Amino acid sequence: MNTPFNVKKKRLIVIICKNKCTGCGNCVKACLTGALQIINGKSKLVNERLCDGFGSCIAVCPNNAIKLEYKFAEDFDWSILNSISFDSLMQKLRMGSERLST
Ligand code: SF4
Ligand code: SF4
Repeated sequence: MNTPFNVKKKRLIVIICKNKCTGCGNCVKACLTGALQIINGKSKLVNERLCDGFGSCIAVCPNNAIKLEYKFAEDFDWSILNSISFDSLMQKLRMGSERLST
């Protein structure tokens, strides 16, 4: 039986350091699932159910403002992956690899 979303359990999830974040938006563009938004000039995790905890956003942050933390959070909503097109997946993977190679 699936765990209800509102039951929190320990898992990896992103944490954004407001002091380091300059609001460049790279992480928002890199996040496949739309878990991040720029709010008041800073990146913010808007829905922990949309964060897969794989950390694709970490590679594109120029300020090392993002890390993964093992903490209590709602389960990742795996059904969101059905709505991600192959083209957008490839575009975001390219973005991450370009950032890593510079
Ligand atoms: S870890 Fe993945 S899903 Fe979570 S905010 Fe970063 S890119 Fe998005
Ligand atoms: S990539 Fe880093 S600096 Fe840019 S918005 Fe995201 S957390 Fe902030």
